[in-house]
Amino acid sequence: MSAYDYDLFVIGGGSGGVRAARVAASLGKKVAIAEEYRFGGTCVIRGCVPKKLFVYASQFAEAFEDAQGYGWTVGETRFDWPKLIAAKDAEIERLEGIYQSNVNKAGAEIFADRAVLEGPHEIRLIEDGRRVTADKIIIATGGRPNRHPAMPGAEHCITSEEAFHLKELPKRIAVLGGGYIAVEFANIFHGLGVDTTLVYRGKEILQGFDDDLRHELHQAMDKKGLRVHCCDTFERVDMRGDGTLAATAKSGEVFVVDQVMLAIGRTANTENLGCEAAGVALDARGAIKVDDYSRTSAENIYAIGDVTHRVQLTPVAIHEAMCLIETIYHDRPTKPDYDTIATAVFSQPELGVVGLTECVAAERFDEIEIYRAAFRPMKNTLSGRDGRMLMKLVVDAKSRRVLGAHVLGHDAGELAQILAVTVKAGLTKDAFDATMAVHPTAAEELVTMYTPSYRVKGGERV
Ligand code: NDP
Repeated sequence: MSAYDYDLFVIGGGSGGVRAARVAASLGKKVAIAEEYRFGGTCVIRGCVPKKLFVYASQFAEAFEDAQGYGWTVGETRFDWPKLIAAKDAEIERLEGIYQSNVNKAGAEIFADRAVLEGPHEIRLIEDGRRVTADKIIIATGGRPNRHPAMPGAEHCITSEEAFHLKELPKRIAVLGGGYIAVEFANIFHGLGVDTTLVYRGKEILQGFDDDLRHELHQAMDKKGLRVHCCDTFERVDMRGDGTLAATAKSGEVFVVDQVMLAIGRTANTENLGCEAAGVALDARGAIKVDDYSRTSAENIYAIGDVTHRVQLTPVAIHEAMCLIETIYHDRPTKPDYDTIATAVFSQPELGVVGLTECVAAERFDEIEIYRAAFRPMKNTLSGRDGRMLMKLVVDAKSRRVLGAHVLGHDAGELAQILAVTVKAGLTKDAFDATMAVHPTAAEELVTMYTPSYRVKGGERV
């Protein structure tokens, strides 16, 4: 008989926590999981899923325009924001129910409560008041948007969390930030007809992505009338008498809008969690420090997902959960594999990437070859839309291995998933060349770029 109430107690019912709880329970472990808000976590409740539904909603305006080039007469169209919110909420509720019932089916006990650590094996349930013990504990409490408290007027701003529940669609919005969330939401709002400005402190949006694609996306956004204002940031936001907001930028420019959205990174949810009492150390940003196996500084306590500030992506949290189960319940110490993680930014056009950018590859390899195709996809011909697709393969000249694949355009996220298999498998450019094209598709460009567009040797383009 165990000396503890549970073999495993999981704090947090997001993607990582739920996966760990479900799999551990299915192995016959006595598992409990506490979630203070709603099952599904950031991804399902206020992140990936509702965001993608918003992306779909925001694409119709262009689709209606494009349809006319294909012979359709589109009648009067009207967008109803409350209707979208209600439909989205219903879908999220459905998914939340599935998450919860999967936990139930696996046999884990659910606490709809906030859980805090009181010691290395002790957990207190706040509402319930109960104190329980567990042999092992997994912290999977995720993160939340930074709210920029140092900026005067930050309290007038929204973050992605409020964006999912706005009563009204603003007429004008300014989005601060140049990362995933800022870029995705700026495109969503623009697509829904909101006059949108994105303000970013750096030289170009989406730091860390391939420069070519960053630039091309920026231009595409500009062309649509979505203003991208770089090398600037907001210094203050004031509420005006008429309820509108005046966001004053460092440059002196004042943006008068109905909403200001902050998308400036996320913070780990570790406040008042009892980490100190349990001997769980935090890093300077307040995220939980873990070793290569997701173990915290407390021997029996582990942490996975966004709360550890490693890679803030749902599939990564799930992977960390699965590796942890291998480590602690199958006696097979397994480190999560962070090499070659494909990702997509659901901007419009979309960006899907995997592997090294040209810039990083040029630093790491003596000579690289760049295969690049920029073209107008067939879909844009009859519609008359001038949007281009950009595809780029980064290849090590010596081994011929494809180091990175980058796509900007329709369904780039879908393509990134398949490209990820090829890059992860270490396939060479010869394997791409030997692959028959699927015609007519946009993706066929990926296997028909036979000669390099240019080479980069010793950091210089040759
Ligand atoms: P990101 O880290 O992607 O971007 C944060 C942005 O805010 C950067 O442009 C950063 O600038 C800027 N910034 C940071 N601090 C300040 C400040 N004080 N003032 C002005 N600007 C600031 O974070 P997000 O919030 O966009 O997203 C969080 C994470 O969630 C992402 O990193 C990603 O892992 C995940 N995510 C993934 C999605 C997907 O897979 N499609 C979608 C949404 C989120 P700088 O570049 O100069 O540092």
